[in-house]
Amino acid sequence: MGNTPTQIITRFAPSPTGDLHIGSARTALFNWLLARRHGGKFLLRIEDTDFERSTPEATKSILSGLSWLGIDWDGEPISQRSLQTRHKQVVTQLLDSNKAYKCFSTKEEILENRESAKKSGNSTLFKSPWRNVGKSQHPNEPYSVRLKTPEHEVLKINDKVQGEVSWNNNQLDDMILLRSDGTPTYMLAVVVDDHDMGVTHIIRGDDHLSNAGRQKLIYQALGWSVPIFAHIPLIHGEDGKKLSKRHGALDINSYAEMGYIPEGVINYLCRLGWSHGDDEIFTTSQAKSWFNLENIGKGPARLDLKKMEFVNKQHMSTVSYKLIEKYFDQYLINIKEKALSTSQKLLLNSSFGFLKNKIKTFSDLLEQIRFIRVDRPIDINDEKLNILVINNKNLLKDLTPLLQNVNWNRDELESLLLNFSSSHNIKFGELARPIRIILSGKSHTPSIIDMMTVLGREETLSRFDDFC
Ligand code: GLU
Repeated sequence: MGNTPTQIITRFAPSPTGDLHIGSARTALFNWLLARRHGGKFLLRIEDTDFERSTPEATKSILSGLSWLGIDWDGEPISQRSLQTRHKQVVTQLLDSNKAYKCFSTKEEILENRESAKKSGNSTLFKSPWRNVGKSQHPNEPYSVRLKTPEHEVLKINDKVQGEVSWNNNQLDDMILLRSDGTPTYMLAVVVDDHDMGVTHIIRGDDHLSNAGRQKLIYQALGWSVPIFAHIPLIHGEDGKKLSKRHGALDINSYAEMGYIPEGVINYLCRLGWSHGDDEIFTTSQAKSWFNLENIGKGPARLDLKKMEFVNKQHMSTVSYKLIEKYFDQYLINIKEKALSTSQKLLLNSSFGFLKNKIKTFSDLLEQIRFIRVDRPIDINDEKLNILVINNKNLLKDLTPLLQNVNWNRDELESLLLNFSSSHNIKFGELARPIRIILSGKSHTPSIIDMMTVLGREETLSRFDDFC
């Protein structure tokens, strides 16, 4: 652990049993940022050894979640399942060097052992009777392979987040490396793969902290150098409880579907457990140049959706318009909405300037641009809105010729509408309401002047015509 390795290699090792969880996305992000900050490598390993729960769909979904976030990996993702021959080879190596042994105790024997220890008030830790039995006395029966945990030693890891953590080896059983059905265990596979992939730093959830201790024993038995560990506190809900579905969406794809943009999510995920002074809003490239292990917090971060929206909002108004257009196209595909037509794209382009400070997500944007997407003649679904338009028909009729002649720009339109309302003894709002509805079919829209400016004279008057 002592010397700083020359090239930093990190990895993300998801088990493909579901979509990319927000906590796992943060783990991936931290590993990615550390590697990118130092010009190192970020590798992907799919831990698909659980045949029953792993699915190719989950792998696909995890990869697409990472790609959506803009987290790229070096080389091809590695399937842990494909490395079993190598895992078994290492088990043989450990057996040959007497660091591991074959254990012929059956499940029933182990269970019995535990029960009787419980009854007599002794430690239920299983001590295999085969630990020191020579080869010549081995029966021809199925066996598992266990690591010979060194006795009477204190096992320590110097975690970059948790500090020094230690266990007494006497509290550990001899862990199984190879099951009696010949399959390598998770604990062994992780160590072998991390070593073979040259992983120098492992950042992951602190639910793996005790695994790190056990894994260190395997590294030591093999004479391999131990990577640097950083176990980050898990994310909690706003109420401080363990994150669960009732706290809101838990997978990254849902955030894409809710209309978040990657920059916003990345920024927010960074702040869930890591800080850079008082900086709240920063870009992914800033995060890439700032990220370090030292500023990962020790306390559990809380998922605060209001804050996440706030962070996203800042990014929606600052990322380039080109990106907005690209992300928005993808968003519409994700939520199975019709794509923007070329003319709608042009209208969006001229509206985004006044819309960008009003929207927190693309779902807000979609709402705001109903007036752009709506087809003529506009169908007013709401009875009350319909009545409002009907009641104001004459007023709108009077306004039409004036609109035909005004210079079509924001200032002139504004002064025309202000003069018109005051000459008709009505408040501006009373005039704006029916106009809003005939331009969009809705009662919540951008300002009528904004809509009219973007739509232009011809389209605005056509929409007036449809109703008057
Ligand atoms: N596959 C493990 C998980 O998804 C991660 C193992 C590790 O990071 O060492 O929790």
